[in-house]
Amino acid sequence: MNQGLIFDIRRFCVHDGPGIRTTVFFKGCLLSCWWCHNPESRDAGIETSVKHLTLGTNTYNRTETTGQWMSTEEIFREVEKDRIFYDESGGGVTFSGGEPMLQEACLAELMRTCRQQGIHTVLDTSGYATPEAMAHVAMWADLILFDLKIIDEKLHRKYTGVSSVPILKNLKYLLKSGKNVILRFPVIPGITDTPENILAMKTFISNDLSGSRLHLSLLPYHSNANEKYRRFCKPNLLQGLPDLAPENLLSMQKEFEEIGLTVTIGS
Ligand code: SF4
Repeated sequence: MNQGLIFDIRRFCVHDGPGIRTTVFFKGCLLSCWWCHNPESRDAGIETSVKHLTLGTNTYNRTETTGQWMSTEEIFREVEKDRIFYDESGGGVTFSGGEPMLQEACLAELMRTCRQQGIHTVLDTSGYATPEAMAHVAMWADLILFDLKIIDEKLHRKYTGVSSVPILKNLKYLLKSGKNVILRFPVIPGITDTPENILAMKTFISNDLSGSRLHLSLLPYHSNANEKYRRFCKPNLLQGLPDLAPENLLSMQKEFEEIGLTVTIGS
């Protein structure tokens, strides 16, 4: 039995795949996206942080621990609790992070168990993994939510800290093998929404992913994570950047629809 470092298990989620879902958040990610909305998920270790609480006129500091090791059996027991809601809503379990692929053995075991127990499985991934790991895990995924961020290699390295090459390769592999994939595009003003990146995305999708019926979710930037950056003492490179209103993405939605994608705004 494997163990996983988990930083949260959220029940009744409705944005991480179809129906009502339980989302299991794995801790640890090799990327360092400037816009990361889960900065507490990135270190592959247990962390402590201090939360400031106000009660009336008094303020308190509470030390909190983020991350705990759990066996696959313990995680599955949590997931199984809401089976009745999955059955009624067409939901299931989503494995997210951080980057769940970093804990391949635990993830694959969990996904296999869920599938064997008739629970719908979604993998939410940056796609940054070896081809072998991706093939191993993808075989147990009913649906893959795959982030597509920046096509240009140099800019991808600048804004995420890693190469885009393995990510794009894995995406092509998944679609070629007939996997059910939804692309997720975090729209970050001045970084991913530039005319150059949009053109590069459209060219890549038309040339390299042609033949696949694709769904693209546009995810507008939001600054909800500001407080977490402060609490976990991580540099917030987008401090002060205002939220992007979903209605500002209508023309982008149209652009991607024109190359044959089904496009939604939001999760
Ligand atoms: S891949 Fe996701 S979890 Fe990792 S740094 Fe980027 S946004 Fe954060």
